[in-house]
This record gives sequence, C-alpha cells and structure tokens, in this order.
Amino acid sequence: MKKIAVLTSGGDAPGMNAAIRAVVRYGIDKGLKVMGVRRGYAGLINGEIFEMTRHSVSDIIHRGGTILKTARCEEMKTEEGRKKAVNVLNVFGIDGLIIIGGDGSFKGAQVLSKLGVATIGLPGTIDNDLAYTDVTIGFDTALNTVLDAINKIRDTSSSHERVSVVEVMGRNCGDIALYSSIAGGAEKVIIPEKGYDLNDLCKTILEGKRRGKLHNLVILAEGVGGAKELASKVEEITGIESRATVLGHIQRGGHPSSFDRILASRLGARAVDLLIEGKSSRVVGRRDGAIIDMDIDEALSMKSEVNEELYELSRILSY
Ligand code: ADP
Repeated sequence: MKKIAVLTSGGDAPGMNAAIRAVVRYGIDKGLKVMGVRRGYAGLINGEIFEMTRHSVSDIIHRGGTILKTARCEEMKTEEGRKKAVNVLNVFGIDGLIIIGGDGSFKGAQVLSKLGVATIGLPGTIDNDLAYTDVTIGFDTALNTVLDAINKIRDTSSSHERVSVVEVMGRNCGDIALYSSIAGGAEKVIIPEKGYDLNDLCKTILEGKRRGKLHNLVILAEGVGGAKELASKVEEITGIESRATVLGHIQRGGHPSSFDRILASRLGARAVDLLIEGKSSRVVGRRDGAIIDMDIDEALSMKSEVNEELYELSRILSY
C-alpha cells in the first residue's frame, strides 16, 4: 500500500472534514501518498483527483460540510460507471480507497471491492441509520443543532400556550427525533419505527394542558410524515393552537461537536491502519466506546433497530 485516496459521498455531515484531515495526516505519517477525490463517485469517474498534503487539510477540523464536496452519482449504479471508476483508480495508481458516507455510499464501496479495489467505509451521516455502529459522524452535532432549536421553540410555545410540532431529519431512522426528544424534554416523539395514533396523541396533549403544562412539544421524524399536516389535525381535534416547524438543512451544517471531531479523527486513523494491514471491504465504527471494524456485507445486512429503553424513557419522562 503506497498510495490511497479519500472521498466523501451522499448527504454531507458535520465532522466529514475532521475525518478527511485524519486520513490525510495519519496516512502521510505512515509514509503513504494520500489523494483527494472531489465530488464523491461522480468525481472519481471523472478523474477529479489531486494529491493532498498536511497543509491542504489545515484549518478545517472545525468546519461543517466537506472540503472535498459531495455528490450523488447515478452512473456509479451502472456496470459501465463502476468500470470507469476502477480504471481511473488504476490510472492514478491508487491502491486503496476510503469512502466517507452513508449506506448508499457503502453500497458503492461494496461493489468496488468486488471489482478488486481495496475499500474501507467511514460512517458519515447525521441520520445514525447504520446498525453496525452506535454512532455515525455528524449525529451528535445534528442532535445539538436540533436541541438548540427546540429550546428556542419551547420559549415561544410556552408564551403562547401552543402545541409545537417540530419536524427533524433522519430519513427512515428515528434516532435524531428520539434522542432530541429526551434531551429537549419533549412531550411526545413520533418515529417511523413506532408510528403513532392521532387520537392518543391528542389525548396526551389535552391531558397535559389540564395538568397545567405550558407547552406541548411534539418531535416528528421526517420519515413519518409532514409537520404542517399533523399540526393542523391536532389543532382541529384539540382546539389548541398548533404550529409546525420544519428544521430542514440547518441540521446538516455547523461546527462539528467535540464528540464528532474526536470520533472522526479516530475512525479516519483506523481506516488507514486497515489499508496498511492489507484489509479491504470493511467499515469502521464505534461500539461501547471502542473503535471497531467489520465486513461491509455483514454491516449492510444489519437492520437498524430502535433503542426500546430510550423510547420508553422518553415516554415516562414526558409527563
Ligand atoms: P448516502 O451515502 O448518504 O446514503 P446515497 O444513498 O445518495 O447517500 O448514496 C450516495 C451515492 O452512493 C449514490 O449517489 C451513488 O453514487 C452511490 N450508490 C448508492 N447505491 C449504490 C449501488 N447500489 N451501487 C453503486 N453505487 C451506489
């Protein structure tokens, strides 16, 4: 292993830059040449590849987004596109590729490894929807962004004695909603893994009001449905003024938290070590505080499950 490359793919996440920095600096420290690929798989296919130095990753550890840019690339899903990607890697003499992204990006890594490229995946997504790892890079930062918003919405919600439905990201995974509901002291969390009953929800809201609750915060995961629609149904049934807030892309930006920076740094270093050891087709993650790696096929076959203990805790602490 003499020359490796790194790319970011799929949805961006705060902490991706810290991971790139770790790969570049750790790789150079181990005597490797480290190349950067711009715009994910699209840039790989087009040969947008350049050498990175210790200096090229200066002043990025605290920045959200990704200096390498990211893209979605349909061509990578075709046989022709994948072949082009392999050819480009050969032309540049690249022996190993580190892919920072979510499950879609990992599928790309999986096919490249089957075509003989040494690949290692790093979990970069705010959604926390990869079952093999307790946390993904960006999740903690997104959670803190949501929490900041909830704190502010709570103030105005209390003043007006309203119901506030806050829609958060996470695709089909309810983790951002669940964790932020506990940290933000929400009255109700609605996640795709559990669904909800509208009458039960309205009953909880009315009972809360009767007991003197000043506000009713409902955290809704995007995978369940729209916040506006839910707020208007709640208002119609309960008679309590209800407002919807869709947090949207602010959840994907901002300075990464210390947790995400350290996680990304550790995962980046492990990915480089794996390539040096001649490993391929693996993904790196964190379990019970330790950095782990796992076969990519096995990791992708694991189903993301909701943390039942936290879901129950959220319910108990909310009234
Ligand atoms: P994320 O990595 O955040 O889950 P996507 O699901 O959009 O984001 O995937 C990112 C990119 O990974 C896609 O645009 C595509 O280039 C690549 N990709 C996704 N699925 C496959 C697949 N089955 N085969 C090859 N490449 C894929």
